[in-house]
Amino acid sequence: MDVESLEQSIQQDISKANSVEALEEARIRYLGRKGRITALLRNIKDVPPTERPQIGAVANRLKQLAEGLLEQKTTALRATQTASRFYTPPRDATLPAHEGARGHRHILSQTVSELKEIFFGMGYSLAPGPDVELEYYNFQALNFPDEHPSRDLQDTFYVTDDILLRTHTSPVQIRFMENNKPPLKIIAAGRVYRNETIDQSHAAEFHQIEGLYVDNNVSLADLKKDVEVFIQQLFGAKTKVRFRPHFFPFTEPSAEVDMTCFACNGAGCSVCGQVGWIEIMGAGMVHPNVFRAVGYDPEVYSGFAFGLGVDRVAMIKYGIDDIRLFLSNDFRFLEQF
Ligand SMILES: [Zn+2]
Repeated sequence: MDVESLEQSIQQDISKANSVEALEEARIRYLGRKGRITALLRNIKDVPPTERPQIGAVANRLKQLAEGLLEQKTTALRATQTASRFYTPPRDATLPAHEGARGHRHILSQTVSELKEIFFGMGYSLAPGPDVELEYYNFQALNFPDEHPSRDLQDTFYVTDDILLRTHTSPVQIRFMENNKPPLKIIAAGRVYRNETIDQSHAAEFHQIEGLYVDNNVSLADLKKDVEVFIQQLFGAKTKVRFRPHFFPFTEPSAEVDMTCFACNGAGCSVCGQVGWIEIMGAGMVHPNVFRAVGYDPEVYSGFAFGLGVDRVAMIKYGIDDIRLFLSNDFRFLEQF
């Protein structure tokens, strides 16, 4: 047996091993069950008794040598690996910067801002109000009869018997009038909640913006003028407006407002369902009972109110056919606006 060449190959193999795996292979090659040093020790019984002490001493020395080298190398490899985990290659400061993904405002926020700007330009100011409302402000003070269907649990999210999620932004009108005297010209904007079955055109939460103007001698003509100015600023100066009689508890008379289709100018197309008109908002003269609820004398003051769905405006304006997309968090949709 060439002890010297065996000793050399042990030293070389272990020093060449540059990974934990390579080192383990080297260990198995010499100290494994079929390893070369193991074989040397096992075969001692086959050599003549006189040579056994010498061979035994050589084998033990090689075993200790291999074990010592393996331990040193393991420690060295671990140190290198730890260091490389904390190593960051130097940056080239001359490379162009990555342009990160940049967010932007949601299409509904953009639409609310656009609508607010138009109303601010017409002399309205913004009045705040809570999303969680008292039934009194949401219904009673707005002249909803006790048996009105929208008070029903099926349509309204109740928190307790007399606390609910507002079903419209109109309670803001009551809160504002309770604390202010006419003349007043305000808008209210925000989320509203209805216990709706969700589909393409119905959501359980959506957005409204509404206006209220109260003074002496406010007339239906004033309402029509403001509605027309607003719609023409939003959809263009050629847009025509018509009022259709309707019913709301808090206004009398009440109307639904249609505008000529912005896509076909009233000729009829797929956007307007071939009728040339698009329903855009509700409006009316403030009901005397609403004035009484806030301590205004209906003989002295008159006013108008109107309201529209922000989601609906955005859907009409941008040709969006499913209201659920607004809350879907789908970037493919959101990035288009
Ligand atoms: Zn049309």
